[in-house]
Amino acid sequence: MPYAPDPSLAAFIQSLPKTETHLHIEGALPLELLRRVAPDKFPDTTPPWWADDYRYADFPTFEKILIDHALLWFTSPERYHEAARVIFEGLAKQNVRYVETSFHLPVTQFIHADGEAIVEAIRTAAPEGMIVRVFVGMLRTDYTPELAPVIDRLGEWKHLAGVDLHGVETWALQPWTARVWRRIREAGKETKAHAGEFGGAANVREAVEVLGVHRVQHGVRSIEDPQVVELLRQNNITCDVCPISNVKLAVVPSMREHPIRQLFDAGIRCTVSTDDPFSFGNTLSEEYAALAMDLGFTRRELVRIARNGFEVALVDEATRAGFLDELARIEAALE
Ligand SMILES: [Zn+2]
Repeated sequence: MPYAPDPSLAAFIQSLPKTETHLHIEGALPLELLRRVAPDKFPDTTPPWWADDYRYADFPTFEKILIDHALLWFTSPERYHEAARVIFEGLAKQNVRYVETSFHLPVTQFIHADGEAIVEAIRTAAPEGMIVRVFVGMLRTDYTPELAPVIDRLGEWKHLAGVDLHGVETWALQPWTARVWRRIREAGKETKAHAGEFGGAANVREAVEVLGVHRVQHGVRSIEDPQVVELLRQNNITCDVCPISNVKLAVVPSMREHPIRQLFDAGIRCTVSTDDPFSFGNTLSEEYAALAMDLGFTRRELVRIARNGFEVALVDEATRAGFLDELARIEAALE
């Protein structure tokens, strides 16, 4: 457990209604389910990459380890449902009330499953009191003859919340992407893109200016270009940041040097999430603890982080007001 806050801080973090807005469902595979299908995997121990000082060699290593394990479990919509139930229960215990999670569209080809059935499988796993929004993620190279017809119809998927651009940022953005992203918004859905993680600030600019997203997944390397930080601020862009992920993937040298501090101080709306807890061994509460313990976030600032998630949540205004009121009461009770 990398972050063990004192009891008072732990209780405060627990008391905050929270959001998780950057979560890959396959990357959240619960260990107990993996052990059921592959009993030889970590029988009575935890994966080596859960160690505090573990650092992935590079993105392909991270991806390979994740895929090799996730595909043992995620073989059908029913398996997605079962995993989502366990994942959401774990989040509910941390007082998470709103979740945005994406599943990886190419998996539908490997397992010959219907993507809309997977959306339903995940969505209907939400426990009482939790709102779940399901996104599909795809790579920059996924507009293939097999997947293009599926991607072109995503706007018609009734319960799909939106799309996310996953994966390797160093591959060039292909022309189809901006067209698809625009159509998804025209269909009333949200669009996101991973940028500014393994790619630099220019990728964040591209996500905003070319893809037109208001939700950047990570975006932390915006800090390398003050003009991109200004672009985010002026366009009211939200960065769904995953601090522990960034440390373990060596996107940043250490938590103390994580740029979420400067982005937050510059007025950028940042949220925190866990990204892939199977790969990092992290919890959402630990992400909050990391901000407080290594980056000097005050309790008032932690309330702000929680608020940010509800401000961009895909909910009706009365529901949003309810969450924001609850946080306002917690903030008012602070010294
Ligand atoms: Zn991610």
